[in-house]
Amino acid sequence: MYNLVVFGAPGSGKGTQSARLIDEYGLYHISTGELLRDHIARDTALGKVANEYISKGHLIPDKLMVDILEHTLDSNPETAGGVIFDGFPRTIEQADALNEMLERRGAAVDAVVGLEVEDKELIERLLKRGQESGRSDDNIDTINERLKVYNNQTAPLREYYIRQGKYHGVKGSGSIDDIFNDIRQRLNKGRK
Ligand code: AMP
Repeated sequence: MYNLVVFGAPGSGKGTQSARLIDEYGLYHISTGELLRDHIARDTALGKVANEYISKGHLIPDKLMVDILEHTLDSNPETAGGVIFDGFPRTIEQADALNEMLERRGAAVDAVVGLEVEDKELIERLLKRGQESGRSDDNIDTINERLKVYNNQTAPLREYYIRQGKYHGVKGSGSIDDIFNDIRQRLNKGRK
């Protein structure tokens, strides 16, 4: 069992690298952003609430997000074999809750991959994605807000996981293959 957190700012490539990691390690993928967008697309009650926050570039409240995550773990028994957490945790409260949730299941966060990309490149990538994704949050005002939220609420998790000896920072710019190879090397070293 191996639980991996893929961590980084919006546009850092979490989704892209998570897809590669799933193929490599055969883990269950939970992207909280995708999960919420799926609810929005189906216009569920949760989707309506989530859209209020997402379209402004704000985070969904911790309690709600943690409940959604726990429900996802409970309703997908395959998650017991190991998960890639993509976009979760995004606050210290969520990280503490994740530790507790996994501990109750006899597991832990084994490693955190941090994709490190400069702000200028993040903005360029997100604007480009916005032209194709149709995502309500890939426009310049919301992007700036998301980066602010990231720096204030999410970035402190880097230190949090460094202190726990779990953080593997990887340069997140360059070719997708090169970044993936870096991640693989870092993780394989840590797993030996
Ligand atoms: P993402 O696809 O990971 O960029 O997430 C898109 C948006 O979904 C974020 O900007 C937040 O509004 C919301 N979201 C996703 N994951 C979380 C989370 N762990 N906590 C709070 N909000 C989240």
